[in-house]
Amino acid sequence: MQMILGGETVKSAATFEVLNPATGEVYAHAPECTAEQLDLAMSAASDAQKTWAADETLRREKLQEFSGAMMDAAPEIAEILAEENGKTLDLGGVEALTGAAWLDYFANFERETVVVRDDDDAHTEVVRRPLGVVSAITPWNVPVAMAFFKIAPALRAGNTIVLKPSPFTPMSSLRVGEIANEILPPGVLNVVTGGDELGAMMTKHPVPRKVSFTGSVAAGKLVYQSAAADLKRVTLELGGNDAAILLDDANPAEIAEALFWGAFFNNGQGCILIKRLYVPESLHAETVEALAEIAKNVVVGDPTAEETQLGSLANDPQLRRVTDLVDRSLSEGATAVTGGKPVEGAGAFYEPTIMTNAWDGMPIVDEEQFGPVLPVIPYQNLEDVVSTVNRGMYGLGGSVWSADPERAEAIATTLEVGTAWVNSHAVLSTDAPFGGVKWSGLGIEHGHWGLDDFSAIQVVHRNKGVSRPGAL
Ligand code: NAD
Repeated sequence: MQMILGGETVKSAATFEVLNPATGEVYAHAPECTAEQLDLAMSAASDAQKTWAADETLRREKLQEFSGAMMDAAPEIAEILAEENGKTLDLGGVEALTGAAWLDYFANFERETVVVRDDDDAHTEVVRRPLGVVSAITPWNVPVAMAFFKIAPALRAGNTIVLKPSPFTPMSSLRVGEIANEILPPGVLNVVTGGDELGAMMTKHPVPRKVSFTGSVAAGKLVYQSAAADLKRVTLELGGNDAAILLDDANPAEIAEALFWGAFFNNGQGCILIKRLYVPESLHAETVEALAEIAKNVVVGDPTAEETQLGSLANDPQLRRVTDLVDRSLSEGATAVTGGKPVEGAGAFYEPTIMTNAWDGMPIVDEEQFGPVLPVIPYQNLEDVVSTVNRGMYGLGGSVWSADPERAEAIATTLEVGTAWVNSHAVLSTDAPFGGVKWSGLGIEHGHWGLDDFSAIQVVHRNKGVSRPGAL
């Protein structure tokens, strides 16, 4: 698979290896985009943008067609993701279907005209104009769905895109580019592949008017700085260290499955998954036992095998990061009730790990582990837990679990997070806005808020007579 620039399939002189994390073997070679090729992609996007923005009916039709194509491509995308990302075929298919759902939603989204004044003297409307070219930069954990979280609203709003996936997962996005190329006019969606330095080039390139970035806090800060030099708009969807908090009336046996998968979905490699679980002392032993029972029975293995529930981690650096966080916490006195180490043999597999004797201040509690590990922390005082969570710099999501949803909601809304869930975690939808506070990000994706973030307001003021400048 090759890059798609201005509707053309473009090879690159240099390539880089893409490894299959489940086997450690080379899966593919991806093109290494040069600075000149990035310029080509940006010019193609810029050339295509005015025409693309001019015809909203065409945009909606094309997004709908693209949605259908992504549904058809789900099995193929699932196979690519299993190879380059180590995730199960089920999860890979869900990524493609998520892309299809987001395209469908934005194809059918009805924008309302906002009239702020209509009287004898004047009519004032607020309309939305596209920004121009968007640099879209995505991470490796959910590469296809994350790409469509940007592609669907950005294109509907009338922008064109240059998309760069993570160097760990370039092939699925290259395939998305090929599929799009059969449907969209040339230059509307360009896909380039390369390392972090290519991302940095895209944030400082003079053409794009917006950078939509999903990734780590560290890279997000660099993106923000780089975009500031040219006052480009940014959306930054960054890391999280989501807490789930059980109240004393929760029933661990009943909610254990939901808690477990709220943490271990996609092997824990998700910004909005549960990263730490706070449990009243009275329920701690029972909760740990219920979670450990599930963890012991989860089928970890070949991502392409039907019975597999968790494939491999997405890459070796991530395996090393999770291993290091757990090892350091164990050496500080934490206990692994299950797991606590990589699976022996080839591939980036890690045993599903439930930890106790892990406290605030330990790496596995304070840092975003982004892996199949969950510390279960007993507490005596609920207010202390909320203060601890709110003292941290992450603010993506959080959840509170209780037999009394209203009581849970009253606590959940005191968490300084972008999404507060009650008796659930990590539930996303096309129409609910999503974003973080503090270091978890800037800006919003999804729903009309997400569409707004890919456009600028234009006020159209029509005077009915002739008037002088001034304010009313
Ligand atoms: P990363 O920040 O290392 O890389 C993300 C993307 O940015 C990659 O394409 C990378 O090549 C590119 N990049 C790296 N440095 C760059 C720079 N200086 N300028 C421009 N681009 C640059 O993140 P990752 O390791 O791929 O992904 C994991 C991180 O992503 C986790 O921290 C996770 O929480 C976060 N994430 C956040 C969300 C969200 O919606 N909030 C969703 C998924 C993942």
